[in-house]
Amino acid sequence: MKIIAIGQNYAEHNKELNNENPTEPVVFMKPDSALLRNNKPFFIPDFTTEVHYETELVVKINRLGKNIAPRFAHRYYSEIGLGIDFTARDVQRKLRAEGKPWELCKAFDNSAVIGDFLSIERFENVQNIPFHLDINGKTVQKGNSADMIFSINELIAYVSQFFTLKIGDLIFTGTPAGVGTVNINDRLEGYIFDEKMFDFKVK
Ligand code: ZN
Repeated sequence: MKIIAIGQNYAEHNKELNNENPTEPVVFMKPDSALLRNNKPFFIPDFTTEVHYETELVVKINRLGKNIAPRFAHRYYSEIGLGIDFTARDVQRKLRAEGKPWELCKAFDNSAVIGDFLSIERFENVQNIPFHLDINGKTVQKGNSADMIFSINELIAYVSQFFTLKIGDLIFTGTPAGVGTVNINDRLEGYIFDEKMFDFKVK
């Protein structure tokens, strides 16, 4: 399976990182070795002193598809979950300054946390899904898919021009504003509505 991730998909987050809003989706990938699940702890790697959480809705692909038209994209997923796109922000700044790719700061081991998934039947509208992250019991990040620059269906159509989507592939759909550093002993709890999707510790 592969993990496709979208950057800069929420205007308020782009402001906080001084990025322009993109005119086409910003796409990167993580390998399957980036997956962290079952609420296992996340260990801060030695090559960074600034790991940021990015809380994101995650779409699970359930059909094989290539060059999917936006109007058919809803047929390619039946579950949406919540995850964290861990980012070594200090490494990312350096890579960007040097014009280098993002893998080292975004695709490292355990950088793609996934929690539980909900059937899309649970949502009246997939473009109106509220979610939030609590760290040590305090809400630090709040988002709603209504604020995405590119909708889930637009993202599926866009990325499937380049990559054949396969059953089990995951799409991280971008983070809202409020990203920040994690520290050892932090407890991260993620919610869609008021339903807990993940609960794990940083070590
Ligand atoms: Zn992200």
